[in-house]
Formats: sequence, structure tokens, C-alpha cells
Amino acid sequence: MLMDLTEEETLLRDSVTSFAEKVLRDRVKPFVAEHAFPTDLVREFSSLGFMGTAYDPAYDGGGLGTSGAAIVAETLARAEPGFAAIYLCNSAPMTVLARYGSAEIKREWLTKLCRGETLASFGVTEPSGGSDVANIRMRAVEDGDDFVLTGSKIFSTNAGTPLHGLSTIIAVTDSDKGPKGLSTFLVPVGTPGFSIGRAGKKIGWRIADSVELFLDQCRVPKRNMIGARGDGLRQILTTLSIGRILVAATALGLARKAVDLARAYGAGRNIGGKPIFANQGVTFPLADMLTKIHAAELMIRNAAMLTDAERPFRTETSMVKLFASELASEAADAAVQVHGGYGVFEDFEVSGLIGEARVLRLVEGTSEVQRLIIARELTA
Ligand SMILES: Cc1cc2nc3c(=O)[nH]c(=O)nc-3n(C[C@H](O)[C@H](O)[C@H](O)COP(=O)(O)OP(=O)(O)OC[C@H]3O[C@@H](n4cnc5c(N)ncnc54)[C@H](O)[C@@H]3O)c2cc1C
Repeated sequence: MLMDLTEEETLLRDSVTSFAEKVLRDRVKPFVAEHAFPTDLVREFSSLGFMGTAYDPAYDGGGLGTSGAAIVAETLARAEPGFAAIYLCNSAPMTVLARYGSAEIKREWLTKLCRGETLASFGVTEPSGGSDVANIRMRAVEDGDDFVLTGSKIFSTNAGTPLHGLSTIIAVTDSDKGPKGLSTFLVPVGTPGFSIGRAGKKIGWRIADSVELFLDQCRVPKRNMIGARGDGLRQILTTLSIGRILVAATALGLARKAVDLARAYGAGRNIGGKPIFANQGVTFPLADMLTKIHAAELMIRNAAMLTDAERPFRTETSMVKLFASELASEAADAAVQVHGGYGVFEDFEVSGLIGEARVLRLVEGTSEVQRLIIARELTA
């Protein structure tokens, strides 16, 4: 490939692969079966400093930008997609802090997050609907030196776990200003009035918990506002756009895993005295997957490089998120087909990929939302 990894990126990929293959792959299996958050594995992964891969070394980050973070997400997903979900959902609030937080906030919180001492959650989606990000109902009312937040968020990933330390919450500060009346706040766990709902079992992201957040007269000091008052929507849209690259990278890792499993099973399966891979009807769908995997890899690399260069990236990140997340579902389906009837039994790892892939077409903006963003090019 022409867009080769740098020396540092190669080193990163090798170190994450070593964790993914030697530690994660086998030890995570019981957690997947139980739909349980793997606290010790996340702690072990975080202690290696990988959570901070993208961020400024001044805050103990790895300084490898979104290009580096995409390598981490893809490599984790090839071992277990749900683990990549924990990583990418922690990255969204970290990106908000890194791009818009004050030096004081970054010193206190971003450093802790890069060191893996705590996990963060991203509080954007509300029960009234996530696709229209501007339609936020959570209120933040100024009161002396504080803001008082009231409302709820839903599907906030990582928030119900023992490692959770803070949430970034978008709320309405100026209801008369429409989309310019939204601001973002850092809300630490333990703040009176901040409570967490129960995690439901999901068909995908089985080991990541996604919960409701309740803020009831929750008081935070003004210094916890992230960036400027009224800048919340712009911050969140940019952060979501960057996050889409990590969802795409997770989808790419999942698609590779699907092909890995299909290849391993197909190579040993003989029907009517000949290997099933002797039938082009079996191998052609996988050849299509390999082709699309190559395309997704190039698209992810390009979108990440645009982001790291601070060049316009919104359309490209939507394109790659749309393409790769749909590819993940296609690849999971093709891999199940190669397994025949065994492919739908939970004892076969491939069966779980259908649900894991399905989630990726919903998070960080559904496929429809990505198409809305891409279609703007037609009228620009
Ligand atoms: C497992 C999981 C983890 C998540 N983690 C987080 C998290 O950590 N933090 C967070 O803030 N959110 C999180 N989300 C929320 C996620 O981003 C939303 O589910 C997503 O944005 C869709 O919002 P919604 O579920 O409210 O669907 P809705 O907005 O109600 O949409 C329902 C359907 O209508 C379609 N639709 C809506 N509007 C349009 C339109 N204008 N044109 C065409 N189609 C449209 C949508 O595409 C979708 O198919 C998570 C979701 C899941 C499933």
C-alpha cells in the first residue's frame, strides 16, 4: 500500500496487536458470553497508555492523532469489536476535552484519561431522539458561580462501569439562541444530582454498557464549561465527525475478523469429497469482502490524515463511516454463510458478529444521517 504506516504507527500497531492477541482474544470470551464489562482487561489495556494514543504528549498522550487512534480501534476490533467500542466511546469525550477544554481541565482530566486512570462517557443523545443533535432538552441554568443541569441522556457508553470518572454533557444554556444556545459541560462522577441508569443487554457491543444518565439539579462550577458558551453544537458535531473514523476502523477490524473466521472454517470443510473453497460460489463473496476491506482501509487512512492535517473532513468521515459500517454487516453475513448452519450457533464466534456489526450502522450518526451529510455535497 502506498499510504504506508510511519515507523511510530507500525510500532503502535505491533504493540496493540500483541495485547489483542496475547491478552484480549481469549480472556474476553467469558465477558462476551455474559454481556459483562471486562473491568480488569480495560484496566490492563489502559495502563499501557493506549487510551491516550491520539492526544498531546503534554497531557501524557501518544501524539499520534486520529491516524493512530484508528489503528488502535481496528486492531482491537479484530480481536473483539466490543472492546474497540469501549475505546472509541472513551475517545469521544477525550476529543472534546483535548480540542476545546481549558488548560486547567486538560491538566486535570485529559492527563488522567490518557494515563488510563479513569474512563469518560459522552452525553449527547437524549430519549427524545439522537439523529437531530441540535434538538437538546437538557437545561443548564446559570446560578452564581455555577451552572445547574437538569435532564437526561441515553445510551451513554462506559458510564455505568466501575472505571467511569466523568461525562461530557451538552445542554441548552440560552434557549433563545437556537443551535447557538448549546454549551458543553464536564460533570465528574459523584457530583450531587448526577446518577446512572441500568445497562440493558444488547445484540452488539455486548461487553460495553450503554446507560441512561440523570441530572437532577446537578450543580457544576462555571469553570467546568468546556470552551465558549454557545459553542457546544459545533464542538459536538466536530467530535462526532472525528469519532466516525474510529467507528469505521472498528468496522474494518470486524470485517477482517469475519474473513479470518470464514477462511479458518472454510479451509477445513469438505463437502462431497472436495473442500468448499473449491466452489467459486463460496469464495467469490469473500473476494468481494477483501476488495471492500482494501477500499475501507484506504478511505480510513485518508479521512484520518485529513483530520490530523486540520483540513476539511466532514464529508469524508461520513463517507467512510457509512461505507465501512455497511461493509461490516455484509462481511459478518458472508462469514456466517460460509459456516452453513453452524454459523448461527453461539458456540461459533462468527454468529456474534452479526449483532456487533449491526450496532455500527447506528452509532455516531445512523447510515441515514451520514447520507444526509454526504448529500449536502450535491447542493453545495
Ligand atoms: C450501543 C449504542 C451505544 C451508544 N453510545 C452513545 C454514547 O456513548 N453517547 C451518546 O450520546 N449516544 C450514544 N448512542 C446513541 C446513538 O448515537 C443514537 O442511537 C443514534 O444517533 C440514533 O439516535 P436514536 O437512537 O435516537 O434514533 P432516532 O433519531 O430516533 O432515529 C430513528 C430512525 O429514524 C432515522 N432518521 C431520523 N431522522 C432522519 C432524517 N432526517 N432522515 C432520514 N432518517 C432519519 C434514523 O436514521 C433511524 O433509522 C449509542 C447508541 C447505541 C445503539
